[in-house]
Amino acid sequence: MPERLSQRYQQVQNRLHEACNKAFIAHSNVRLLAVSKTQPTHAVKACYDLGQRAFGENYLQDALVKIKALAHLDDIQWHFIGPLQSNKTKAVAENFNFLETLSRIKIAEKLDKQRPRYLAPLNVLVQINISNEPQKEGLGFEQANEFCAQIQHFKRLKLRGLMCIAQNTRDESVLRKQYKKMNTLFNELKTQYSEFDYLSMGMSNDMELAIEQGSNEVRIGTDIFGKRNN
Ligand SMILES: *Cc1c(COP(=O)(O)O)cnc(C)c1O
Repeated sequence: MPERLSQRYQQVQNRLHEACNKAFIAHSNVRLLAVSKTQPTHAVKACYDLGQRAFGENYLQDALVKIKALAHLDDIQWHFIGPLQSNKTKAVAENFNFLETLSRIKIAEKLDKQRPRYLAPLNVLVQINISNEPQKEGLGFEQANEFCAQIQHFKRLKLRGLMCIAQNTRDESVLRKQYKKMNTLFNELKTQYSEFDYLSMGMSNDMELAIEQGSNEVRIGTDIFGKRNN
């Protein structure tokens, strides 16, 4: 299994390089987030040993076990990328480097209060519901600017950019349109918010398309760790 992990990881890195070459950007400008949700601690450690530093988690209890077990790795970075309920903000404020799914002021208020003083401000990405699907989390496209203006005032949060989960479709023209729209919004907001530097979009199936459309963080689970059971 570790050997297969290293092969898969190398393949993902190769795809990333190729996609960056095609888009004429340096591959060092695109962050690879290894989505380790539901994976065991040893898989995360094996991936860390291959050089990976940023890991994405969706489920709090599952994540906390790994964060605790790997606390001695002081340059490992944890990104919370799942839906966050307001009664679970404290654990995110205390244990993560990034929250990528912010879309409610109430959650921001709590995180701002709960972020421990001994840690740097919590980095946040604002989630946009770019496909406008009712079952999806995230702000409408038109609400983003006003929301960011409010978030900016929280001293213990650092507004770092936008995130979206595109529609679950193989239709490239639909995806391209949604990613393009995200990129436009990102560039617009970037002129207003000084620390805005991440546009997180693209997963295992569509990372090339996302990079072509300006993504600078791709979130890859399956193609690194293999298929999940859930
Ligand atoms: C699970 C997940 C991913 C990774 O998806 P894969 O298809 O396994 O690469 C990326 N982003 C979010 C928000 C996820 O929940």
